[in-house]
Amino acid sequence: MTAPAMPSSALVWFRRDLRCLDHAALSAALRECEVVHCVFIFDREILDLLPDKADRRVEFIWESVRELGQALAALGGELIVQHAVARDAIPALARALKVNAVYANHDYEPHAIARDLAVKKALNTCGADLHTFKDQVIFEKSEILTQASGTFSVFTPYKNAWLKKVTPQTFNAHSITRFKTKSAPQVKAMPSLESMGFARTNLSALKIAPGALGADALLADFANRIDHYDEARNFPAIKGPSYLSVHLRFGTISIRKLAGLAYERWKSLDRDGAAVWLSELIWRDFYFQILHHHPHVVGGAFKPAYDKLNWRNDPVQFKAWCDGETGFPIVDAAMRQLNQTGYMHNRLRMIVASFLTKDLQIDWRWGEKYFAEKLIDFDLAANNGGWQWAASTGCDAQPYFRIFNPQSQSEKFDEKGQFIRRYVPEIAGLADKYIHTPAAAPAMLLDAAAIALGKSYPRPIVDHATAREMTLAMYKAARG
Ligand code: FAD
Repeated sequence: MTAPAMPSSALVWFRRDLRCLDHAALSAALRECEVVHCVFIFDREILDLLPDKADRRVEFIWESVRELGQALAALGGELIVQHAVARDAIPALARALKVNAVYANHDYEPHAIARDLAVKKALNTCGADLHTFKDQVIFEKSEILTQASGTFSVFTPYKNAWLKKVTPQTFNAHSITRFKTKSAPQVKAMPSLESMGFARTNLSALKIAPGALGADALLADFANRIDHYDEARNFPAIKGPSYLSVHLRFGTISIRKLAGLAYERWKSLDRDGAAVWLSELIWRDFYFQILHHHPHVVGGAFKPAYDKLNWRNDPVQFKAWCDGETGFPIVDAAMRQLNQTGYMHNRLRMIVASFLTKDLQIDWRWGEKYFAEKLIDFDLAANNGGWQWAASTGCDAQPYFRIFNPQSQSEKFDEKGQFIRRYVPEIAGLADKYIHTPAAAPAMLLDAAAIALGKSYPRPIVDHATAREMTLAMYKAARG
């Protein structure tokens, strides 16, 4: 029997993997094919739906694609960049370039799966194929199963099975060689942000460095702090986490590099910081496999009983939450961080999600959608997982009766109000004792700090103790 003929020419389609080091699809194409073309499509099916035309993510991608083009050129390749509908443009380009196959990395989001299926069908009609590879996770789909070959929906046993499956080879990088043949020049100037209808944002003012170079710089910084991650990660006022989420989202850094580093540090040096950080990366894999096995979580509760929750959904309170005007300083500071920077600290994501669902009784899907519009690291699997965790509707969620008290969360994780003062400057003059609850401050202190409650800063839009009781009743009713 003869082995099937290898494709002699390929088109590597970059999507959420904007780097050329340790890239599964590029590595395979360069190994298997004589001629390798590369393409990135600014997909109109995604971009046309974005409500805000000054979107930090589009600028981040644009800058990262520009850097990727330069990195590929240094390897002897070229990057074609188009602003088009990917499901049409990829088959058209494959035909024009006469390639035998398109190479791409797996994407686990339902719309991406449908798009890839359509592209595969279109390619097949002209004798080409779509080859796809695992790249953005360590273990995917059904690679981690229970002993009875079932899927995991609880994190800790999933994590234990994940750790059991890891070998030293798991983190090996996909090697990248130079391009063998210079591809025929197809490359036109990259479309500008403006030509695609987008504007510059405050990305550079925020010092969010895009591209693989930006990711490497962040990692170099975090590598000095990783051993303290377990202690520092919960306090939003200090530099505790890695801030690498946007780079993981767009693949400007390899997950194998990050997980390998954490695993190695944990195993060889027994560092708790590295172990806890690795755990967070495993949560990321966990939610990808939840999305793969339970696509109904998009738009619906993981536990369907909770689709019956009778949310109050007050639009005025929702707007106050979005704008950071709830009268709960920690919630307001967090929402303003999101609005001003596109990032929110993990502890704060939990606090504001709990507040929206359990203090305001607003449907978690409203919050999920708002995060999806604003987060620079928005990722369907992790965002949905995080929201369903906080709303207690998810797979391995916070029990419904565990309701964060925003005041005690604030006192515990931002004791001196440093974070609050950064984003809610109008109450910065209050003493530490009242920074978490300005409404409880004596009038004399409010006057001294130039705070007019209800005018310069809102009164609390809800009473936590009352809201808690209402929420417990709402969940009990849904559970029957
Ligand atoms: P680190 O603390 O340095 O963690 C390293 C990496 O691990 C992160 O970059 C991320 O890729 C992964 N990670 C960490 N925590 C989680 C988690 N709980 N679930 C899945 N992956 C995790 N993360 C996103 O990447 N995109 C989202 O859209 C998103 N939405 C969220 C919504 C809610 C309501 C909640 C509670 C969490 C959400 N998270 C999301 C998870 C987490 O908050 C962010 O990954 C983290 O804050 C990113 O900052 P970092 O890179 O500094 O994280």
